[in-house]
Amino acid sequence: MSASALLSRTAPLYQRVKSVIPPMEWPVFADDIEAILDLKRRRNAVILAHNYMTPEIFHCVSDIVGDSLALAREATKVDADVIVLAGVHFMAETAKLLNPAKTVLIPDTRAGCSLAASITAADVRLMRERHPGVPIVTYVNSSAAVKAESDICCTSGNAKKVVESLGVDRVIMLPDEYLAQNIAAQTKVKIIAWAGHCEVHERFTAAEVRALRGDHPGVTILAHPECPPEVIAEADYTGSTADMSAYVGREKPGRVVLLTECSMADNVSVHHPDVDFVRPCNLCPHMKRITLGNIRTALEEMRYEVNIDPAIAVRARQSVERMLAV
Ligand code: SF4
Repeated sequence: MSASALLSRTAPLYQRVKSVIPPMEWPVFADDIEAILDLKRRRNAVILAHNYMTPEIFHCVSDIVGDSLALAREATKVDADVIVLAGVHFMAETAKLLNPAKTVLIPDTRAGCSLAASITAADVRLMRERHPGVPIVTYVNSSAAVKAESDICCTSGNAKKVVESLGVDRVIMLPDEYLAQNIAAQTKVKIIAWAGHCEVHERFTAAEVRALRGDHPGVTILAHPECPPEVIAEADYTGSTADMSAYVGREKPGRVVLLTECSMADNVSVHHPDVDFVRPCNLCPHMKRITLGNIRTALEEMRYEVNIDPAIAVRARQSVERMLAV
């Protein structure tokens, strides 16, 4: 196909992202996008994309988009032979746990997560020994092996609800220390935390939030609960990426800051051209491993398939399914 024919065929897709992708850059993406859309049909594949994917992935090739909770929920409803997870490795594992009979692919096996890497299954067993009888609530940002040692999972969107659903006065919450502290501030349940951190959200500071308010009078500041508590204290609203997106749609702030990963503001802004997004952000190097190029290769070569030891999978699945039932 000639370059001009390709651009003409992909023009409707470009309309979706023209506010965040300059016209000069579109020809670089158009060929991969066309190829991916064709491969999805031929492979009977769907692409699940996290909110931190870049706009050409998020808006132009994905079938299901959202935060970890939405992707986990939607993964249970997928009617396709192949799932490509445009996100990080623990998300692909969660999709596999919920779809054991399907082929789940991650385009780059190096797409990890500092939170997931902060704790092992042996660490969880040690925590259980130290705190006998205390239920373990594990953030989905963890490996399947860690989930398998846990009682129930949670996401940043449902953590408080999950903690309170257990009907106990004390829980262990792994592995995000800041999420645990931020939930502890909202509930009477005592929370024992682990010292894991998200390398993206831990870099935001309270001084940065104050400087933003000084530089942009009237700005509304939304923070992700993986940020340190002092940042949360300075923000106007705290919520998961899905909550932030819903807040912008509902409240329509004139000017807003999303204290989270960089692609989030790009992706949300596409739907809200009247909102002014101030964009201080931190890049997640793991999320940014996923590109149109490696999604295309994943579908061409059916790589890299995610598999989980069945003995681990059965217990990890229970932890995820208990969360989904809350
Ligand atoms: S943004 Fe943070 S929590 Fe999310 S994948 Fe990157 S390091 Fe992990």
